[in-house]
Amino acid sequence: MIKKKICMLGAFAVGKTSLVQRYVHSLFSDKYHTTVGVKIDKKPVNINGTPVDLILWDIYGEDEFQAVRSSYLRGASGCLLVVDGTRRYTLDTAHDLLKRTQETVGNIPVVFVFNKFDLMDSWEIEPIQLDALEKQGMVIVRTSAKEASGVEKAFTTLVEMMLEE
Ligand code: GDP
Ligand code: MG
Repeated sequence: MIKKKICMLGAFAVGKTSLVQRYVHSLFSDKYHTTVGVKIDKKPVNINGTPVDLILWDIYGEDEFQAVRSSYLRGASGCLLVVDGTRRYTLDTAHDLLKRTQETVGNIPVVFVFNKFDLMDSWEIEPIQLDALEKQGMVIVRTSAKEASGVEKAFTTLVEMMLEE
């Protein structure tokens, strides 16, 4: 069985834990629980006929941006860079984390995930910014962990890119 490690990266409270919860356990909670330590979840999937064991690494809160260490990224086959559409600065954080990832593990596949799409009315990130990212060759997916939209697509898209490597 192929095993693939995926890291969840992004600023505080963008929805990293919620996306994993939704994807692995089909659950969502409105309460905020700071992730303590690194939480590792597993999910067996079948992507276009290839069985893969996904190992999802979800890192803890608060100072996670400072604390993303190379030891956390090592061995990763792909990353979801999670952005909270309602907070513009979280896109800058995602870019910084992408840079750090590339410095640590090279050019592994990444997908930009714009979460909290259910709150679209209070989004600070404009569609034109998403278009600009796509023009730069980035893969982006809009998600709502709350309403279970786009979540499956975000993970599946990343795994497909990983399997093409
Ligand atoms: P993390 O710090 O990146 O792991 O963020 P969490 O997954 O813990 O989520 C932070 C907060 O945002 C929690 O209160 C979640 O309930 C909320 N949240 C996460 N995803 C969504 C979403 O898609 N829509 C809405 N409305 N809230 C969300
Ligand atoms: Mg968390």
